[in-house]
Amino acid sequence: MDLKITNAQLIGRSHLWEIGITDGKIAAIADFLPEPATTTVDAQGKLVIPGLVDAHIHLDKAYLLDRVRWQTGTFREALQETLAAKQGFTVADIQARSRRVIEQAIAFGTTAMRSHVEVDPVVQLTGINALLPLRQEYAWGITLQLAIFAQEGITNHPGIETLLRQAMSLGGDVIGSAPYVDPDPEQNIRIVFEIAQEFNCDVDFHLDFLDDDAPLLLPMVIAETQKRGWQQRVCLGHMTKLGGLPPDALNAIATATADAGIAILALPSTDLYMMARRDTHNVRRGIAPVHTLADHGVTVGVATNNVQNLFTPFGDGDVLKMCTLLAQTLQLSTIARHEQCLAMATTQAARAIGLPNHDIAPGNVADLVILSATSVTEAIGAAPIARTVIKQGKMIAQSKLEQILFAS
Ligand SMILES: [Zn+2]
Repeated sequence: MDLKITNAQLIGRSHLWEIGITDGKIAAIADFLPEPATTTVDAQGKLVIPGLVDAHIHLDKAYLLDRVRWQTGTFREALQETLAAKQGFTVADIQARSRRVIEQAIAFGTTAMRSHVEVDPVVQLTGINALLPLRQEYAWGITLQLAIFAQEGITNHPGIETLLRQAMSLGGDVIGSAPYVDPDPEQNIRIVFEIAQEFNCDVDFHLDFLDDDAPLLLPMVIAETQKRGWQQRVCLGHMTKLGGLPPDALNAIATATADAGIAILALPSTDLYMMARRDTHNVRRGIAPVHTLADHGVTVGVATNNVQNLFTPFGDGDVLKMCTLLAQTLQLSTIARHEQCLAMATTQAARAIGLPNHDIAPGNVADLVILSATSVTEAIGAAPIARTVIKQGKMIAQSKLEQILFAS
């Protein structure tokens, strides 16, 4: 046995457990494991959770606040200013900002991440050329998926389809777009599915974002998913418009989404900031009701989306803090809901990006985090700083909290 974790508290189980790890995988979970291990880590009664999974982030657009003009803080300004900032993107610049996010994420305990990578007339293939080497370089600490992403539309930019295919040929893992910025969103969706079929890859859309009166595109995505046999291979981020549906309509679309095997991610730090800007009082929250979707069998997650740019000025890339934000804003009020919320940043988020078997069970990869908390409620309540991170059975990061009180 390579590694043994003792005195581990596990979600949904009473008393403390030992976890044995061999060849990067969980070999056994028991009250007591007699076999000696090369390394033993005493969890001291703390909670051991599956590695955090950030299913939706933009590494290439992180940390841009020092180079944009920031006057209204609106979505339109964010799109315009970020497009202008992209003119200055270089491989070295994207890599420097991405490294900062990735290294922080590893320390937070994020063992898998899906980053969108912009492909548009301005950046062209600079983003994918910057991020491909990092996927390899940081494989010791994080499983990084790269989702080729047409942020500025497809049908409105001749040549983008070719660039998207080139980016996939270079090594993109997933294909996606933001149909809401395309003058022909339905054709945009069809093109993305066609590329997915060509490259046999998963699909990831930024969908049904904003709070305008445009009809939902989700029914069309459900139909395309079923027509093309792409069940369990489609993930949708934002889906803020679902937050505005009355219960009957929400229940119906949730059932259809579950039947199509489509996953949905709430992105609360962006959506709380960007939505309902015209509301003068009683401002709506605009967050996908992922807890209700989960009740209907939809695979759901919560993710960070952005780190300190005009779409999301606040945050540090810690997806556990997104659980705190989601639990507050969706008013998740029971221990069962708290456990569901944590699953949205671990096992369910992993499933959403095509990584099943992420729970703590024999045979699964040993991607684990020891949190300085003794319950799930405490873990999502305070997102503790002190964490020990294990990736494929190796201890790869440890954060400690040092506090000094100068009492007089
Ligand atoms: Zn996004």
